[in-house]
Amino acid sequence: MKTSSREETIAFAKNYAKSLQSGDILLLSGDLGAGKTTFVQGLASGLGIAEEITSPTYAYMNNYNDKLYHFDCYRIQNAMEAEVLGLTDYFDLDGICVIEWAENILDILPAECKKIILKKIDENTREIEVL
Ligand code: ADP
Ligand code: MG
Repeated sequence: MKTSSREETIAFAKNYAKSLQSGDILLLSGDLGAGKTTFVQGLASGLGIAEEITSPTYAYMNNYNDKLYHFDCYRIQNAMEAEVLGLTDYFDLDGICVIEWAENILDILPAECKKIILKKIDENTREIEVL
């Protein structure tokens, strides 16, 4: 589907959140600026999280009340580094994991993951593909 504003992507993600279950792992694919973090903002809203969602680029992972774990693996070089950082520990918990730049940690991802691909079409248009 296509969205034509940031708000539309948030609304889509908020609705998508209803399909998630405890312990789910969701991978978000897409270039810088594609809307991954924006999508997570909608997701959090749909999960009833009132806190502001900010990009965890420098913290690697932000924990929202053990309900949502928001990862940004942009600066992680490989799976071993993620393991050393203890990121894999969160995969087995009840909270939902949502991962930006999961491409960087492919080797340690559980077999069963949901996936969404975001593509920037133009300034305000994004294509969202749910896999
Ligand atoms: P990423 O996490 O993929 O790097 P962000 O969500 O941080 O991307 O940034 C997306 C940027 O694109 C934001 O500045 C947002 O306002 C803008 N934007 C414009 N149109 C859309 C849209 N349809 N959906 C999502 N973001 C959009
Ligand atoms: Mg981001």
